[in-house]
Amino acid sequence: MNENKHSNWQPYKFIKILKYLSYGIVYYASRSSININYKLRKDFKLEHVNTLSLPISAVRKFDKINEEEILQKQFGPLIMEFVNVIIDNIPNTYLTLFFNNLNTLNSLTKDFDLDNLLLNQHVQGEYLANDNTIVLSKDNCCLTIDHELLHASTTIIDKSNSIILCGFQQINKGRQIGEGLNEGYTQYLAEKYFGDKHKLLHAYLYEKRVAEILEIIVGEDLMKALYFNANLMGLIEYLKQYNQEEEIYKFIRTLDFLNKHLEDKHLTESSFKIIFESLQYINIFLIKTSLRKKIVNNSLNEQMDVFDLIYSLIPILNLLPANITSGNYKYEIVDNKLLNENILAVMSEYTNEKQKKSLIKEI
Ligand SMILES: [Zn+2]
Repeated sequence: MNENKHSNWQPYKFIKILKYLSYGIVYYASRSSININYKLRKDFKLEHVNTLSLPISAVRKFDKINEEEILQKQFGPLIMEFVNVIIDNIPNTYLTLFFNNLNTLNSLTKDFDLDNLLLNQHVQGEYLANDNTIVLSKDNCCLTIDHELLHASTTIIDKSNSIILCGFQQINKGRQIGEGLNEGYTQYLAEKYFGDKHKLLHAYLYEKRVAEILEIIVGEDLMKALYFNANLMGLIEYLKQYNQEEEIYKFIRTLDFLNKHLEDKHLTESSFKIIFESLQYINIFLIKTSLRKKIVNNSLNEQMDVFDLIYSLIPILNLLPANITSGNYKYEIVDNKLLNENILAVMSEYTNEKQKKSLIKEI
């Protein structure tokens, strides 16, 4: 995009925005696509789970990591490598759960092959919160150790309410919220900090992309602070500045739903439609939240440059999955018309209803 052209773009009429969106934004959006092996299966229904509580206050029990003790444990050198990378990259004040759990961590090895075969899954590692234990595949521990250690670094148990708070996920007596976002962000951080050190298991491709976009909206530092403090509530409170609480819960639950069902096989037509609409909802949520943040943060200015508003979306549209394909199926999620409609809808919230500013002089 040319800077001189940028300065000539204000003020803009809707018709010109639409023209811009048609060629510019969709070009960016269409660059990212995700391919997932995807086949049909029998139908299913959305579940209703509402589990949430405030994070309990965590008390830091250790000032530092006991390196000697950790090195004597199974996977000791790998755990210490993880510890050093985290300490170098995450502010110390966010690491209360990390210090508490890593110093008392247990580990086990397991052959996951039989379980995977019987349950038709691809698990290669897990973290057992109640025992503060990572369970890894004996032969392939490097594939998953960093991901599982991130879970260990971000977990606290509220014993009085029997709630496990793990990153952005909360689990209460078998019911849960936030798994999709939590797995996505965990995998995103694992690849960011350890992708050049170990050959990692490729997992949570879609959830990772969504979490990465959410980090752009929330901001890297705050996102890390909330994640390492297992503060889902804090994330919701932050997003409430730019979206309704109900929509935020729907976003989190929809990502949970896709985490569970995106790779299901043998879909009926109605199930296929539910998945399509869920994917579309996630994209619209991210676009609207990002636009509102840009407008609200610009509220001191009398008038907003529409080009700036639309330009602010580009980092998000660069990552947003525009289509997901598998086999004979292709979900075209970023539809040009839908994108235009939602951008205009957000703009009209601020021009017509709230009269906070005039985005456009003439409509
Ligand atoms: Zn995980």
